[in-house]
Amino acid sequence: MAATLEHNGTTYRRPDGPLAVVCIDGGDPAYFASGLKDGIIPNIARFMKEGFSTVADGTVPSFTCPNNMSIVTGRPASVHGISGNFYLDRKTGEAVVMTGPELLRADSIMAAFSRKGAKVVSITAKDKLRQQLGKNMDLSRGSVSFSSQHADRCTMTENGIEDALAFVGQPLPDMYSADLSLFVLDAGIKLLETRRPDLLYLSLTDFIQHAHAPGTPEANSFYSEMDKRFGRLVELGATVALTADHGMNDKSKPDGTPNVIWLQDVLDNEFGPDRSTVICPITDAFVGHHGALGGFVRVYCRNGLTARDVTGLVAEIPGIEAAYERAETARRFELPEDREGDVAVISDAGACIGGREVDHDLSGLKGHRLRTHGGLSEAKVPIVISAPVSDAYAKRAEKRPLKSYEVFDYALNGTAA
Ligand SMILES: [Zn+2]
Repeated sequence: MAATLEHNGTTYRRPDGPLAVVCIDGGDPAYFASGLKDGIIPNIARFMKEGFSTVADGTVPSFTCPNNMSIVTGRPASVHGISGNFYLDRKTGEAVVMTGPELLRADSIMAAFSRKGAKVVSITAKDKLRQQLGKNMDLSRGSVSFSSQHADRCTMTENGIEDALAFVGQPLPDMYSADLSLFVLDAGIKLLETRRPDLLYLSLTDFIQHAHAPGTPEANSFYSEMDKRFGRLVELGATVALTADHGMNDKSKPDGTPNVIWLQDVLDNEFGPDRSTVICPITDAFVGHHGALGGFVRVYCRNGLTARDVTGLVAEIPGIEAAYERAETARRFELPEDREGDVAVISDAGACIGGREVDHDLSGLKGHRLRTHGGLSEAKVPIVISAPVSDAYAKRAEKRPLKSYEVFDYALNGTAA
């Protein structure tokens, strides 16, 4: 293949050795800080010292789908179109899940490289991301795209690999486990050992981070297990770039119960029912660990209610950090305006926002403190690369905070000798 690839407005150098980009779902910078202090992540510590390390700005809303798509397309959501896990279709009034490949308006860098003959690997913990990550990927020349969630269903046509469980040598991991993430890394290692891909994108799940704060035994054990695997990837000759889709904050009151603003109830009480719809774009089929509560919601107005009515009301609510009308939201956060609500409402680090209290099932918390994400306070993410970057790239990072969607640029172009 050619030495460079022009994609979504950036020219990427073809990697001269394997590059593994890992998205640590919910990997708030506080986990690295705590792991360094406790001495449990020696490989990451070495990358930070000998390679490149910074804290970057992720996409707001700080949710999984928008950020994964920003990272892999190298562009903001205004370009790739995925601005949440859900949006409201204004024509039908229905909430639409945003994981369909037809909603993605830009292909991933992996897909583009695969079509140029590079061997790429895309593995995600949750299957919901798989189709968008693998959209327009050429699987006919050794490239692979699958999820650990459905690793038992892989076919050559759909995934570029068969019998992934036997290949990795592990049973199907539990949907709610740290193993779902570790399986992704182990599969990446196995592929690196046997097929030597040029490019790997390994996207994990935030099951541990939703339940366990930095420095807890569970979090430390997970980070230590990940660290060993990052070390192994480098041992096998890969450059490793670590980032996250979003951070994570404790959203509990002092008594341990969730600190929730039930925004649909607030709006209904003030303006009457049938005047607005609150969409929580964190919602997916996988909500046990956060009760569908996040730090960013969209309000759709009806029956004469105006965006200004809503922003005026929510400005008075403790725990609300900001509320912006549609055009301002799209401009400020580089989001596709056609998929915005009339108002975006964002909570602060200590609070989260729900719709109607009766609609949220919090039993999945099982006594845990609520930890979740979505707002500005969870949009800071680490970028750590095992190799140093050029002076020009280092200077750029000193001048302004990087965007997390620059990680492929940094890992491919910045580390060029
Ligand atoms: Zn996530």
